[in-house]
This record gives sequence, C-alpha cells and structure tokens, in this order.
Amino acid sequence: MAHIELCNITKRFKKITALDNISLDVKDKEFFVLFGPAGAGKTTILKTIAGVEFPDGGHVKMDGRIMNLIEPAKRNVSMVFENYALYPHISVYDNIASPMRSPLYKKDEEHIKKEVYRVASMMKIDHLMERLPSQLSNGQRQRVALGRCIVREPNVFLMDEPLAHLDAKLRHFMRAELKEMQCSFDTTTIYVTHDYLEAMSLGDRIGIINEGRIEQIGTSDEVYYTPANEFVAKLMGEPEVNIFKVNLINQNNRLKVKMLGQEKLFDIQEDAAKVLLKHHSNEVDLGIRGIDIDLSFSKKDDEYMHGTVYSLEPIGNKSVLIVDVNGQLIRLIAPNDLKADLDSDIFIKFNMNNALFFNCKDKTFLVRHRQEELAKGVA
Ligand code: ADP
Ligand code: MG
Repeated sequence: MAHIELCNITKRFKKITALDNISLDVKDKEFFVLFGPAGAGKTTILKTIAGVEFPDGGHVKMDGRIMNLIEPAKRNVSMVFENYALYPHISVYDNIASPMRSPLYKKDEEHIKKEVYRVASMMKIDHLMERLPSQLSNGQRQRVALGRCIVREPNVFLMDEPLAHLDAKLRHFMRAELKEMQCSFDTTTIYVTHDYLEAMSLGDRIGIINEGRIEQIGTSDEVYYTPANEFVAKLMGEPEVNIFKVNLINQNNRLKVKMLGQEKLFDIQEDAAKVLLKHHSNEVDLGIRGIDIDLSFSKKDDEYMHGTVYSLEPIGNKSVLIVDVNGQLIRLIAPNDLKADLDSDIFIKFNMNNALFFNCKDKTFLVRHRQEELAKGVA
C-alpha cells in the first residue's frame, strides 16, 4: 500500500532530457497506466520510483515521505522490467522464489513454495518450474518475470510492458487475467504500455507521456472522449483518428461546419457552438474516429459524402478502408468481408456526436461535439 508522488522530476542523460518536470500523483491502491510512444520516458519514470535512476531535480514521495535518498532495496517496490532480467543460472521456480528469499523480506520455505505455485499456475507456467530461463520462449520468460514481480506484496508494483512479448492470443488472455488480479491486488500498481487497448482496459487512470512530459492524465473515458490535444487523440484508437481542417460558418445565427468541399453545411449542437464561438477563429480542426463513420454504396441521405476507395486492408476481424473525399484521405472501419474495387464510388457519413474540435494552430482540444453522451462510457 502506498501513495506515490512525483514532484517536478527532471532526469537528463547527457544532452537528452528524458523527464522534463514530471509531476504525478498515484493514489493508494490505484492501477495507474503510463502510456506513450517509445522513447517517451516511461521506463525512466519507473526506474526513478524504484530508485535505480536518480533524478536531477524534484522529489519522489511514498506516503508523503521523500524517498530520493532511500536505496532501492529499502523502497519495497517490485518491478518487472521490459527485458525480463531473470537470473540465468537458476530455475524458473527459484527465479520466482527469489524476492521472498531476500534478507529484507525473507519468508520460510513452505510459504515460498505455496506462493510460487500459486502465481505460477496463475501465469500458466507451473509445468516449467525446473527449466532455466534459456530454455524458455520469450513469452514464457515474460510470464516468469511477471510472476516474480507479483509473488510478494510490496508497497508498489512497477510493471514495464509486461505483456509486450506475448503473442496476440496470450496477451489477450493475460490482459484479462491481470484485470481480474487487479481487483484482488491491494497494491498500488504503475503499469507501462504502448498498447492503447491495454491502457484503456486496465487503467483506473492513464497518464499519457510524450518526450518526457505529461500530455494528459485521466480515466480512459476522459482521454478517449476529451483528449487534451491532437497528439493524445491520435494515440487513442486504431486506425488513427482522422483530423482535418474545417470552416465554421454562421448561417441564420446557427453555427455550422463546412468540410471536405461539401455543399452541405453540418449542424453544430448549441453547447459546442458556444465554445467554438468563443474561440474567435472560423478555422478549426475536426477529429473523427474511423469507428464513427458509416459507409454505403449509395447516397442514402444528404449527410453522405461522396468519395472513392483509396485502399482496403484487412486487420484481423475487420478492415481499414481509406476513402478519398475531395483529396482528403479518411480512414474508417469496415467489415472484413467488404468487397470494394479501388477507385470505385463510395459514400460515407460521420456520426457527428463523437466529433472532436481542436485549435488548428496549437492543436489543443476545444470541445467534443455532444458532451451529454459522455457518461455512457467507451463503446
Ligand atoms: P520509454 O520507456 O518511454 O520508451 P525511456 O524512459 O526508456 O523511454 O527513455 C527516455 C529517453 O531517455 C530516450 O530518449 C532514451 O534514449 C533515453 N535514455 C533512457 N535511458 C538512458 C540511459 N541509460 N542513457 C542514455 N539515454 C537514456
Ligand atoms: Mg521503456
């Protein structure tokens, strides 16, 4: 159990500023996800909390106590590293048992055996106990490392992309397993991933990191439906959200959107219009996710926009269809049995409820089109 605070942490490696004034507050027992692209600084944050990297500025606090000068072994954190870091010369059993044999947290052998088998069966590696790490696949090593991390009850679990090396099926299974374990964990957990689905499904809150800075901290609904800026919006979703410039037009005292060279002006809800009017610019960026776009081979109503098929690529159980609408490429999700010839005519319609508006200059969030539906949660 621990409340973890990072206060204005800066960390440099020679000329690289890996962490640039990071402040974070992770509540006791929270499952907090750090999410961001490679090189963002996620691992460095975990190492700073673990005490294996020392910050150039700022404080690490646990339960209000400054930890900067407390050595790693005494911080009582349990970390699973990206590269597993298993002891190569001892068995899977002894690797998992090792945290319970350290002089600080020593347990008797009977207790150790029970706990090792408990986590090994949870991780589905109980048939591998006698093997050495070199005799395991990457996915198996990763599960041993995760097992070793959760075998005891530290103040905090630090997990660095613990599922990254698993194949898709196993990752899905382990994600569900972790989610279930999360309910029974009484331990604060900070979990790093660069997979947005993992971030959304596991995190009580998500901290989005980019180039050593925090872009946004929020629940999965908050970062998905009200992303702080275009960078966050682009990270949350597959295929990437479509973002393009649109014009705001005042027609008979109603604010409307003109987009993609269409004749039709699209309505804007009153609450969003109020925010956009205050913005004092008639040019904004509109963001619309592929999941919020319908397609048809005929123009069913005047909200359907004409385009041509640019590409169609299957991804698992669905396809990503890219449609060229007046020179703007729009990505959307299509059923994977969709047949469409390249360059053929197609019509698309935006579900404007989930449309997002951004400042087209500094790319910050302005407003979500329909705010009242937020409470319903992520689809
Ligand atoms: P992430 O885990 O988000 O991929 P890291 O925390 O590993 O990112 O790295 C953040 C930045 O700091 C990167 O630019 C990385 O190259 C740099 N970095 C990390 N560790 C070191 C190190 N030991 N020496 C030099 N540069 C490092
Ligand atoms: Mg990393």
